[in-house]
Amino acid sequence: MKYYSLNHNAPKVSFKEALIQGLAPDKGLYFPETITPLSSDFFDAIESLSNEEIAFEAIKQFIGDEIPAVILKEIIADTLCFDFPVVEVEKGIYSLELFHGPTMAFKDVGARFMSRCLGYFNKDKKDSKNTVLVATSGDTGGAVASGFLGVKGVEVIILYPSGKVSDIQERQLTTLGQNIRALEVDGFFDDCQDMVKKAFLDESLKHHNLTSANSINIARWLPQMFYFFFTYKVLKKQNKNLVFSCPSGNFGNVCAGIIAKKMGLPVEHFVASTNVNDTVPRFLENGVYDAQPSRETISNAMDVGNPSNFIRIQEIYDNDLEKFKKDFSSFTFSDVETLAAMKTIYNKNGYIAEPHGAIGYLGLKKELQNHPESIGVFLETAHPIKFLDTVEPALNVKLPIPAQIESVLGKEKVSTKIKTYEQFKAFLG
Ligand SMILES: *Cc1c(COP(=O)(O)O)cnc(C)c1O
Repeated sequence: MKYYSLNHNAPKVSFKEALIQGLAPDKGLYFPETITPLSSDFFDAIESLSNEEIAFEAIKQFIGDEIPAVILKEIIADTLCFDFPVVEVEKGIYSLELFHGPTMAFKDVGARFMSRCLGYFNKDKKDSKNTVLVATSGDTGGAVASGFLGVKGVEVIILYPSGKVSDIQERQLTTLGQNIRALEVDGFFDDCQDMVKKAFLDESLKHHNLTSANSINIARWLPQMFYFFFTYKVLKKQNKNLVFSCPSGNFGNVCAGIIAKKMGLPVEHFVASTNVNDTVPRFLENGVYDAQPSRETISNAMDVGNPSNFIRIQEIYDNDLEKFKKDFSSFTFSDVETLAAMKTIYNKNGYIAEPHGAIGYLGLKKELQNHPESIGVFLETAHPIKFLDTVEPALNVKLPIPAQIESVLGKEKVSTKIKTYEQFKAFLG
C-alpha cells in the first residue's frame, strides 16, 4: 500500500515510511492510495469472528506485505488486550466504552498498535534509534508512554505543561522509566506543542530520527477503525440502522469510523460532537472553514481549534460538501450543557459519563431525531476517573480507583524541568 500527501507535493511512500515520517515533507497528512471494501461474506459472518480476526481483516490492506501476516496478528493481539463493551444506557442508545485499556483512554489502541509496528521495523537496527516526541495536555502522553514502554529501538520524550495536568495524568507520564522520559515545561500546552513542532523542522536534530505519535500518524489513526467493526458485530442482530456519535477534537476517531464505512461497514450516519471549539459545526452551517484559537473547556482533550484530521474527511468525500452532509453532522455543546447531560444520564439511567462521553451522548440524541427507526452509539473515550475533579462534584459521587490507576499512584514522579527550546535541545543531546 502506498500513501500520498494531502498537500500533493511529496513522493508517495510505503506504510513504514509514512509511519516513521509522521507528516510528509510538504507538511501534508498521509492518506492511503486506495480503500477497498471488504467482502459481503465478511459482514455476513462477522458474528463468528473474534475481535482479533476482524481487526486483521480490516487493517491488512493498509499494510500489505510490509509486515508478515503472523507478526501482524501478534501485533493486533497485543494491541487488543482489553474489552470493548457496548453498554445500553437507555433504550436504543449505547455507550461504546473505549476506556478499558492500560491508561483508560481510547488512545491506548492507536498507541499500542503504532509502537509495536515501529518496534517491528526497528528489530534489526543495531545502533540507530527513533525518538518519539509528544506534547500532551494530559491524555495522549499517558497512552503513548504506556504503549511504547519497553519497545526496542524507540526513545519516547513527553512534554507536558507544569501544574496543568491532573495528578493521575502526571503520574501516568512520569513514573514508567525505561525508554520513557518526561519533560515538565514551565508554560502552557501550546508552548510544549511549539517546541515539538520546532524540533521537527530543526536540521541539527535530524540524527535523532524524530517521529510523532498523535493521530496525524497513520499507524495511530487507522487502527481506530477496529472498534466500529466490533460494535457492529455486537449490535447487528437488532437489525436496525446505526448512528455513531464521536466526541471530537482532532477528528481522528470519527475519520477512522468513516474509513470503516468506506470499507463497507453499514453505518447510516456519523456525528462529530464538539465542545465550544466549533470550527467544524460552523463549517457545516456556512461552508467557511475558519479555524480559531482553542478555548478551554471541561472536556479538555477536545480543546482543538483547528482539527488536524478534518482534511482527511474532506478527501474521503472529494471535498463535496453536499455529499458529505448526507452522511455526517457536527454539533457543538457548552460546558453547561455537558454538565446537565452528565446529570441526566446519571439520574435517569444510573450511568456515569465523563464530559467527553456526555458530549457524544448529546450529539447522538440530537441526530437521532432525524432517524427515529435507528439505534445510536456514542463513544465513551475515557474512564470517568480521569476527569474525577469534574465528575465527582457534578454527580455527587465518589469514584472507586481502578487497578490501572492505583498502580501508578504509589510510584515516584521523575521529570526534568525546562523552560526554553535551548534547554530542550540540550536535553535531547
Ligand atoms: C483525544 C480525545 C478525544 C478526541 O479524539 P479525536 O480523535 O482527536 O477527535 C476525545 N475524548 C478523549 C477523552 C480524548 O482523550
